[in-house]
Amino acid sequence: MNESIARLTRTRDLPDGELLTLISDPMGESELAQAADAQRRNWYGTEVYVRGLIEFTNYCKNDCYYCGIRRSNGKADRYRLTDRQILNCCRQGWALGFRTFVLQGGEDHWYTDERICHIVLAIKGEFPGCAVTLSIGEKERESYAAYRVAGADRYLLRHETASDDHYQMLHPSSLSLAHRKNCLFTLKELGYQVGSGFMVGSPDQRPEHLLADLRFLQRLQPAMIGIGPYITHPDTPFHDQPSGDLHLTLRMVSILRLMFPYALIPATTALGTIHPRGRELGLQAGANVVMPNLSPVGVREKYALYENKICTGEEAAECRSCLEGRVRLAGYEIVTARGDVKPANKKSSPK
Ligand code: SAM
Repeated sequence: MNESIARLTRTRDLPDGELLTLISDPMGESELAQAADAQRRNWYGTEVYVRGLIEFTNYCKNDCYYCGIRRSNGKADRYRLTDRQILNCCRQGWALGFRTFVLQGGEDHWYTDERICHIVLAIKGEFPGCAVTLSIGEKERESYAAYRVAGADRYLLRHETASDDHYQMLHPSSLSLAHRKNCLFTLKELGYQVGSGFMVGSPDQRPEHLLADLRFLQRLQPAMIGIGPYITHPDTPFHDQPSGDLHLTLRMVSILRLMFPYALIPATTALGTIHPRGRELGLQAGANVVMPNLSPVGVREKYALYENKICTGEEAAECRSCLEGRVRLAGYEIVTARGDVKPANKKSSPK
């Protein structure tokens, strides 16, 4: 085996130069994926956890240059789900075996802290034992604390890119990387299982930026790491920028599995969008989570972060069974469980 991959597997770390080679070298890809798959099997066997994704609002106060639901996109057809609609999504999901619900949306102030807490309490009340994950952006500590008291277990907030100059290039000056990072550490302090991550192939991204992402994640030690290719959206300032590359994304998934063997790493919708078998390839490269869409079919197309997003026309049950088949064909099995993270310092041992 390639000496660097063997050492990364053993020590979860490498010097910058060796990591940069693994990031950039397409030749190492299949060996990286094999090592990552062996490591995921050590920690999680062939289990794949499912998360029911509910995209409950596409209103957003922010103006990220890459995102289709950015405030300035006048062509976005905006919607908000009511509490009743959100609970109905959870009911369908619960019947299909989902034990984790992810509420994701733009930063939409219509959903005050009180409203978010009310929704979290209602979900936890009706589906005892389920996990609730929030992904609603940057908030004050008091807000995060209130959601936690209401019962939220997990929080997803990708850092997007860990390099200041690159962050400023992707976002308007009202947003700062320091604030986003600060939110992540606050969430950890409050006892959330925290997920972070980044886009691969975002405009102007260089291998050094990806290296900085890995170094930041080493500091944060998140429970979940979500990455996916950047995909162009025609109604954003980056409409003429190319989408990210499948193979680079797969290499990054494998490197993440080797550096963070305990982590929950999704095979993302964006991966499935840039390649018909993208999610299966993601699983074979070390991912162990899938996130079928539970949002009402009528709003799916409106949550258009990027072009040609998949799974916008299927009912929840269809989406679930399609993914189940894909996961099985890839050599793994979907399990009905909350799918909490394993302790990072557990000694790796076969399941
Ligand atoms: N507002 C919340 C937040 O800021 O974390 C959650 C919603 S945000 C739309 C979810 C994620 O979508 C972002 O973290 C970003 O990585 C991803 N995203 C947005 N636009 C994208 C694009 N054009 N291609 C790929 N991913 C994109």
